[in-house]
Amino acid sequence: MQIPGHIDPVVTPRAITPRSDGRIDLMGLSHLQIRQLFEESQLDEKAAKLRSKQVFHWIYHRGVTDFEAMTDISKTMRPWLADRFVIGRPEVVEAQVSTDGTRKWLLRTDDAQDYEMVFIPDADRGTLCISSQVGCTLNCRFCHTGTMRLVRNLTPGEIVGQVMLARDALGEWPKGNMAFASADEDEDDEDVGHYTADGRMLTNIVLMGMGEPLYNFDNVRDAMKIVMHGDGLGLSRRRITLSTSGVVPMMARAGEEINVNLAVSLHGVTKEVRDELVPLNRKFGIHELLRACAEYPGISNARRITFEYVMLKGKNDSDADARQLVSLIRQYKLPAKVNLIPFNPWPGADYECSDPERIKRFSSIIFEAGISAPIRTPRGRDIMAACGQLKSSSEKKSRAELDRLAEEKQAALA
Ligand code: SAH
Ligand code: SF4
Repeated sequence: MQIPGHIDPVVTPRAITPRSDGRIDLMGLSHLQIRQLFEESQLDEKAAKLRSKQVFHWIYHRGVTDFEAMTDISKTMRPWLADRFVIGRPEVVEAQVSTDGTRKWLLRTDDAQDYEMVFIPDADRGTLCISSQVGCTLNCRFCHTGTMRLVRNLTPGEIVGQVMLARDALGEWPKGNMAFASADEDEDDEDVGHYTADGRMLTNIVLMGMGEPLYNFDNVRDAMKIVMHGDGLGLSRRRITLSTSGVVPMMARAGEEINVNLAVSLHGVTKEVRDELVPLNRKFGIHELLRACAEYPGISNARRITFEYVMLKGKNDSDADARQLVSLIRQYKLPAKVNLIPFNPWPGADYECSDPERIKRFSSIIFEAGISAPIRTPRGRDIMAACGQLKSSSEKKSRAELDRLAEEKQAALA
């Protein structure tokens, strides 16, 4: 089996690509990038600085997609912007709602690649699970996404675009006067009411959708910077969790440059089992991984590392496995908690979920050692929105792909 190294193995389109009508989509661009574009479009330095700050705020903080709505920008300036730029969103191919309230969106990029995003509402929080790649190169044996053949990195615009779209769908953009307001002769005061940020449904973001975020490091970092920016979406880094299957060489950089919460997909406590479940383990083994966890900047009892552990019947769910997990966490003195994820089935999967009693026993062994080990309730299974079930229908829709599969099948039968 091919085990890709830490060098980005997949294609990323350029972040700034003019659309067919020549206009540039500002979605996913930083304040500085917007400023540079404005300067390239012949705004003088001072104007570019002011306008980019205003536009950045309107786009990411207020969710505005129409330059006409940017009321602190002069009326003559708005068409100038609209002639040159757009503020896009990912195209929604399908939106589904589970019986438990979980929502899933199938999204499509400009070059017709499909990816998914999931929103999980809870009593005290709402978590948006976003994708970092179309598909995933890593082929974990129990993960549906890993079986996708088409893989491409998502751009910062496509990553931030998911959060923007979720806010649109949940109707969560602040209304009323902005905290930020810059003097402008032409300023309209149409916007009455008050800026409100409280009582939001979308409170947390997890990078646990399709893809391995640390294989698309730069774009994930740039996107998260916008999501965390006070003048942007303004989400605290403490409310964002990046999940990695263990791309060890990128973990320190993730800590330094993004510094969100870290989740690590462990799933196995012996070389043999983890090699099978997470093939990347053959490249970066358990001890190397746990050492990188111990060195992750800012970890403490208040900011623990989450270990994800999918419960697979007869594979990784014995009492001895639970004890070994405790002993590994102790050996590396890790402030950690363990999320036990009941295996979510998908058509053709090789594994079964452990019995509920087994999962409880596994959890209590870890709890008794003083480590929190909650059992995750699967969400949105009926619409295939649960962990590891994401696999967009892009393959169904790609003729070339279908042809290739058919050829492969025939060759196998011959
Ligand atoms: N690529 C990253 C993030 C996406 S996967 C990673 O692997 O960490 C998010 C989580 O879902 C991971 O812990 C993953 O191992 C888990 N997962 C994958 N397939 C699953 C399945 N079928 N049932 C339950 N969890 C699964
Ligand atoms: Fe990729 Fe994560 Fe799925 Fe593994 S579990 S194939 S790394 S998305």
